[in-house]
Amino acid sequence: MKCPYCSSGDSRVIDTREARGRIRRRRECINCHQRFTTYEMIATVPLTVIKRDGRRQPFESGKLANGIRRACAKRPISKEKVETLAEEVERELYEMGQPEVQSALIGRLVLERLRELDDVAYLRFASVHRRVPDVDTLAEEIEDYKEWKKREEELEAQLRLSL
Ligand SMILES: [Zn+2]
Repeated sequence: MKCPYCSSGDSRVIDTREARGRIRRRRECINCHQRFTTYEMIATVPLTVIKRDGRRQPFESGKLANGIRRACAKRPISKEKVETLAEEVERELYEMGQPEVQSALIGRLVLERLRELDDVAYLRFASVHRRVPDVDTLAEEIEDYKEWKKREEELEAQLRLSL
């Protein structure tokens, strides 16, 4: 996606919309800060999501972005970060080149990224996505998360020591 003003290949997505089989993205060039709009065909290979109960549904990037947006609502996460996250997950899904993906996998890709971004958004998404049936399961989820976080902090501390 080259900037039409300076031809730089680095741009960030400000806004993403889906309309009639096309994805419209507002972008800002990292190099010259001009804004421009790109249209992309929604992937030519249709992607099907296999839901937990076995039902199949066409993948909808708007739905994915909405779920992420909801999890990030009122958190200190910029709108463009949310859009970029949704975009990355979508790209990763298409790049796998499979005609069908499990909804659990989509959830995992989102959670991996949210984990790095924001505690609350992560737990919100996890509880909705995994349909946390009760408080105990949520407590387990939080425990897992705390352990992961502790490991990450230890790794970081080690890294700092070795520098
Ligand atoms: Zn530019």
